[in-house]
Amino acid sequence: MSKKREEKKVFEIKWKTDLPYNWAMGKLSVKFFEELKENKKIMGSKCPKCGKVHMPPRGVCADCLVQMTVDDMVELPPRGTLEGFTVVNYPFVDPNTGGMRPFPYGYAIFKLDGADTYMMHFINETDPSKFKIGQRVEAVFKEKREGNLGDIPYFRIIEEG
Ligand SMILES: [Zn+2]
Repeated sequence: MSKKREEKKVFEIKWKTDLPYNWAMGKLSVKFFEELKENKKIMGSKCPKCGKVHMPPRGVCADCLVQMTVDDMVELPPRGTLEGFTVVNYPFVDPNTGGMRPFPYGYAIFKLDGADTYMMHFINETDPSKFKIGQRVEAVFKEKREGNLGDIPYFRIIEEG
């Protein structure tokens, strides 16, 4: 025997709410964003035991679990090598603004010179045929920086040589 399901109208209330929050970034991240804002520098952290350079800077080396401090931070050049890429072709909520990010846009994975870890960021190319693994890329800085990742809006492909 089957019981006929009763359809009930769901009672709902719609509203928007602000949800402000703060979090502790840690000393290395604070130093990273201060140097980015004030001096247009990109800082990584170098493990004092194995020498691995982490970018973004990490408080603990993932390989040997040694803790790092701001004294272990090293400046990295704003240039690196492309290791992978994608072109995003669908609407996406931009976590920095809460609005929809215009598309298409390029997103790349690369290693900064002197770093042993990969980082990902926007890149100002949307034609997949223009990307080549091993290409050189360079950070583009905002003139008026605020101390957040938006201070580097994107990387660009450069010719060197
Ligand atoms: Zn290490």
